[in-house]
Amino acid sequence: MVKKINVLILASVIGFLAFSAIQAYLINNTYKLKKDAFLNETRRSISRLDDFSPILDSINDIWQDRFLVAVSEYEQQKLTRDSLLSQLKKETQELDEDYRIAYKAEMKNNGVVYDLQFHKRVRTIILLDSIQNDTLFYSEPAKDGFRLIGDDFKREDGHRISNSLWLTDHTYQVQEGDSTVSKSYDLQFETVDVMNIDGWKRIVLNQLKGLLIISISIFLFVFGLLYYSIKNLITQKKIADIKTDFVNNITHELKTPLATLSLATKMMKKDAILESAEIVKSTIGTIERQNIRLQKLIDQVLHNSLGYTEIQLNKETTNSATYLSQIISDFEIAQADKDLTLTKEWAPSSPEITIDKFYITTAIVNILENAVKYGGTQIKVSTRLEGKDFIIAIQDNGQGISSKDKKSIFDKFYRAGNKEIHDVKGLGLGLYYTHQVIMAHGGEIRVDSKVGSGSTFTIHIPK
Ligand code: ADP
Repeated sequence: MVKKINVLILASVIGFLAFSAIQAYLINNTYKLKKDAFLNETRRSISRLDDFSPILDSINDIWQDRFLVAVSEYEQQKLTRDSLLSQLKKETQELDEDYRIAYKAEMKNNGVVYDLQFHKRVRTIILLDSIQNDTLFYSEPAKDGFRLIGDDFKREDGHRISNSLWLTDHTYQVQEGDSTVSKSYDLQFETVDVMNIDGWKRIVLNQLKGLLIISISIFLFVFGLLYYSIKNLITQKKIADIKTDFVNNITHELKTPLATLSLATKMMKKDAILESAEIVKSTIGTIERQNIRLQKLIDQVLHNSLGYTEIQLNKETTNSATYLSQIISDFEIAQADKDLTLTKEWAPSSPEITIDKFYITTAIVNILENAVKYGGTQIKVSTRLEGKDFIIAIQDNGQGISSKDKKSIFDKFYRAGNKEIHDVKGLGLGLYYTHQVIMAHGGEIRVDSKVGSGSTFTIHIPK
């Protein structure tokens, strides 16, 4: 049974984990698809924006014209390659501000409302020549060169939009001696457009909000259901165990008086016994006692399983010391055959208490009987006042209760220790009943115990 439940719990947990993993995988996939769709859509909206915008086009014209002149100077060896590139960077950066403002305005016109940054990067600049090309700048495709114009952000934060190739030829005049000579070159200028959408993750997640809320709700619902089912399963199993223990205990308890009864009736059938009035009397006495014992057992089961809400109290006000002394002297008489030391210590001025004497007596006797049953030879009953509570403390020097058992001893049918051992008789109902009676009085009961040293049960009753 335990094995079956464990397998069931394990299977449910594995199933739940698999379900969670699949859900996480699906959400992640949807996120990636949404992200790609969003980026593609943005790319489409802004791709070649500067080709179709007159302002952006004219800004591009400015740096391009200046660069062509600078390349002519490079051709005439008036400029080195490095200073040519520095000049290009310097001139485009001067135009950055205007470019950015114009680009933002264009984006707005194209329906891009979120915060988007854009820049152009230089990949290659090559002077084309039929004999040998002159590479002025080259960058690995993955690195995308340097920022030419536009917003300043790290390449890693951006997404590539498109590549553009600017192919042009340029003719310039050179003074050679007295004559002016016309020279020309062909140029290939490759750029990459890169965008960086600030908070794009938030935008995509926002688009997924509905799906995420539903998924998390389903996840929590299934988790709750599983948790509840497993908890229920364990509780049911505990109850089933407790019931089995109870049936075992009660069977054992009933067996002894029944065996004695059967023996006594067998004896009564014998003629020899019937002839002696004394033996008949004593046998009838035995039958009577066993009968009372059986009746008591049945009453215990019927009575002691009442819940505190079912207990009808009939309260009366009584002097605490007189009432408790009476219970203790009755108990001493009942336990006369045992070597027991009972001490008492009453609260000064022995206050009046309002209780149902019948129920509280049974509750206290249950605790006293347990003290003796579980090894106590010295019992101390004391009372005191604590705020508005009247306290009755019953202390014994018995075997004590482990902290694990302490939590459960007030539960119905609970018996501490090894359930197989029947050397101490009981049904696990006494403390449950005591607890219910105290609760019906609006009070509470606590136990303080140490294995091997004894236990103290403290009853709080509102005065
Ligand atoms: P039972 O019929 O088993 O005595 P109770 O409800 O009266 O049932 O007690 C529950 C369990 O609490 C007992 O089985 C016993 O293990 C433990 N217990 C109760 N009182 C004491 C005590 N004074 N000392 C040690 N253990 C105790």
